[in-house]
Amino acid sequence: MANLASQASGPPSVSIYPDWRAVMGRAVTDTAKLCQVLGLAPETAVVAEGPAQEFPLLVPPTYLARIRPGDLQDPLLLQILPKMEEAATNSEFTTDPVGESTPAHDRGWLRKYPGRLLMVTNGGCGVHCRFCFRRHFRRPVAQCPDDWASALQELTADSTLHEVILSGGDPLALEDDRLAELASRMEAIPHVRRLRIHTRFPIVVPQRVTDELLNWLCAGRLTTVMVVHVNHPAEIDADVAAALGRLVAAGVPVLSQTVLLRGVNGRIDVLAELFERLVDLRVIPYYLHQLDRVAGAAHFEVAPEEGVRLIQQLRARLPGYAVPRYVREVAGQPGKVVLA
Ligand SMILES: *Cc1c(COP(=O)(O)O)cnc(C)c1O
Ligand code: SF4
Repeated sequence: MANLASQASGPPSVSIYPDWRAVMGRAVTDTAKLCQVLGLAPETAVVAEGPAQEFPLLVPPTYLARIRPGDLQDPLLLQILPKMEEAATNSEFTTDPVGESTPAHDRGWLRKYPGRLLMVTNGGCGVHCRFCFRRHFRRPVAQCPDDWASALQELTADSTLHEVILSGGDPLALEDDRLAELASRMEAIPHVRRLRIHTRFPIVVPQRVTDELLNWLCAGRLTTVMVVHVNHPAEIDADVAAALGRLVAAGVPVLSQTVLLRGVNGRIDVLAELFERLVDLRVIPYYLHQLDRVAGAAHFEVAPEEGVRLIQQLRARLPGYAVPRYVREVAGQPGKVVLA
């Protein structure tokens, strides 16, 4: 098999740190260090320590570098900084809003949609997002091949399953050799045709788009699709653009998903700039998610009526293919509910 990574050498390569594991090794997990690096008051760090005990701070240097120092309203900082508001109690915001994390994490997979099996591959992530609906489920699962047994058994047993969705944590927190092995095990099941990967890594640590990743994504029989989680245009720097370019040039369809977040991207101009930038990079905006009502994230919520209004404004302003579907997850419902 030709080396597709080298064929895809057109776009500029990703710079700064050569190895994504080294980048993650330098991730900031200490609130005092974060505030020192960003020129924020030490009191901000003290306040952050409480919520960080429940769901730790985790931000790699590649993401940190895109945050404006000294600005507490920076849209990237707001996504990663533990805040007092997380302690606010609201009975409508619960630890498992989608009502599926426990079974999914216990056996490593979940079936909710015809033809598709969602596999929870890993408890790890490239960054900790304060609004994450899995913030109360941090157990690492299915990290070794044996833990895949249950999902592979389910896949093998049901020939109507044509697509596997790798979700997390973040599936790209696993090493490429592990993922390549998983892909080849799936390839051995004749009715499995597609492998979809939902990940925030190419945005947070663009160095994760390695030659090895491109090789296993493109080497086999399966059609691989990537859905990148991106929330703000300032998240897309030159390295991220290059990483997305490498995926697209290698022939991988790249779609995006965005969570609608108050203070971060709940404005028409920010969303329009984000989606236009994505299509410029040949990434198709797929989903805009209504925030899952997870305990600790209530301060991020944008009212659904406001979200619908934003989508209508986007439709008036952007090409049709640049406007994602606005969806929400409803516990117990067989599918995502399309809001607009
Ligand atoms: C969102 C989701 C999917 C994928 O749905 P698509 O509409 O195909 O993007 C699959 N399984 C589960 C459990 C999901 O929550
Ligand atoms: S990368 Fe995804 S799974 Fe991980 S914390 Fe952020 S939103 Fe949650």
